[in-house]
Amino acid sequence: AGGGNIKVVVRCRPFNSREIDRGSKCIVEMKNNQTVLTPPSDAAHGAKGPKDLAPKAFAFDRSYWSFDKSDPDYAGQENLHNDLGKPLLDNAFQGYNNCIFAYGQTGSGKSYSMMGYGKEHGIIPKICQDMFERIGGLQQDKNTRCTVEVSYLEIYNERVRDLLNPSTKGNLKVREHPSTGPYVEDLAKLVVGSFQEIENLMDEGNKARTVAATNMNETSSRSHAVFTLILTQKTFDTDTKMELEKQAKISLVDLAGSERATSTGATGARLKEGAEINRSLSTLGRVIAALADLSTGKKKKGAGGTVPYRDSVLTWLLKDSLGGNNSEYPALCRFC
Ligand code: ADP
Ligand code: MG
Repeated sequence: AGGGNIKVVVRCRPFNSREIDRGSKCIVEMKNNQTVLTPPSDAAHGAKGPKDLAPKAFAFDRSYWSFDKSDPDYAGQENLHNDLGKPLLDNAFQGYNNCIFAYGQTGSGKSYSMMGYGKEHGIIPKICQDMFERIGGLQQDKNTRCTVEVSYLEIYNERVRDLLNPSTKGNLKVREHPSTGPYVEDLAKLVVGSFQEIENLMDEGNKARTVAATNMNETSSRSHAVFTLILTQKTFDTDTKMELEKQAKISLVDLAGSERATSTGATGARLKEGAEINRSLSTLGRVIAALADLSTGKKKKGAGGTVPYRDSVLTWLLKDSLGGNNSEYPALCRFC
């Protein structure tokens, strides 16, 4: 589990048709924050000793049981939004950047949890909907005005593609602004005024996602998808006659499958692709570990506590969401 500002949760999805056809048995149990894996008894012949057959317990900030919809303990999309999306929005409306990553093998339920399918909206559309409801409430006050900008990009083989403007071919440049930090040059940032508008953009972007089949899953996505919301609130203070501005960036990331290239039967070009994807994922792991060490005081900045943001496009672009926007890159002067 992570330190202070990092929450790690796990979710167990229902069996898919292949697992049902094979007569699979569920070896996962969840109790409160714990996830317990019990090796099946028919694994005994492969076990080297009783230790290999003993249940193993893992602790997370939360363990979501979504295995069986008829179970009274079933954790649905709304449960995840209440626990994760709402506090994220609370922070965003305070002006803090934040992000959510979905990590796991292809087929484990990342896109279901992030975007959702059909009417079963995932946390991304739920956050958008909730955001516009909150804005509606805030703008009851005539001195408050909010704007929302959205961008949606894909990182594939360490290259950036604009999902809201797929005609910009392949490779957008990642640059660094001296005061606001890393950004993608020429990336579409569209102003949206309602949930309906944002939903249309999401649908377009999802259609544009690169899908390359692997042996593991025909529709497996081999790219990282980064959905970004920028929320700006302007409040006119009638006493001081000054306009105050708060801005926050929310990054919602559906990561590429975490399966190892070798276990998916990939060869040649696909194997190289796997290695690149793993490089991004392993960098993300190292960045989060370094941040956890800094936040628990285990390491001090500089003294071996350098965060390796620059080692992958994903972590570099999310630098100000991962490390926070109040430390290294203060937001531009509110009044200039
Ligand atoms: P990934 O994006 O990790 O490759 P998906 O999100 O596409 O995986 O999920 C694989 C399949 O499992 C999909 O058909 C999806 O609808 C289903 N699924 C995943 N998670 C859940 C869940 N919590 N409840 C019900 N169905 C789920
Ligand atoms: Mg997916």
